[in-house]
Amino acid sequence: MQASHCHAYFRHVDTSHPYPSESLAIRLVPDPVLRRRARPVTSDDAETVRGLVPRMFASMYAAPGIGLAAPQVGVSLRLVTIDLMPDNRPAPMVLVNPEIVAASEATATREEGCLSLPGQYADVTRPAQVRVRYTDLDGVRHDVEADGLLAVCLQHEIDHLDGVLFVDHLSPLKRNMLLRRLAKEQRQKRDGG
Ligand SMILES: [Zn+2]
Repeated sequence: MQASHCHAYFRHVDTSHPYPSESLAIRLVPDPVLRRRARPVTSDDAETVRGLVPRMFASMYAAPGIGLAAPQVGVSLRLVTIDLMPDNRPAPMVLVNPEIVAASEATATREEGCLSLPGQYADVTRPAQVRVRYTDLDGVRHDVEADGLLAVCLQHEIDHLDGVLFVDHLSPLKRNMLLRRLAKEQRQKRDGG
């Protein structure tokens, strides 16, 4: 296991870039949509995707987060928005039907969080580099080689499309601890204490 404690996954986002669209409610664990395998986007979905993408960005920036998968707003489609805000400037990426086509043997460990598990963070070990193939909104295919935070973000979001959450990469003990803590915090929030 390598040294961790780089950036927290969602903690360093500048929220001063409101996206001009209405945001959507983020689905939280244990919403079953988060555990479903999302279906590929087809040309029949073009209108849905066009309407959804601005709202996904709005939801992501408002949260704030650096990545969002469509199932997190209740839409079971293979669609992801990412913005790592390099130099604190918006750099939105839309990935339609992204897939990991290669992953390094070398791993890296980083602290991750998830908008669907608010307030919960844990170190996750994943391949350090990945190659991801996706289509953009203009229908152009791309291959991106990623390492560092982008590699983590891509793997985390593509996991969402398969119904996988970052806690699934932890030991059962750690996972249960985190899920119990989340449930307790949600309960306290609901009860107003
Ligand atoms: Zn997530």
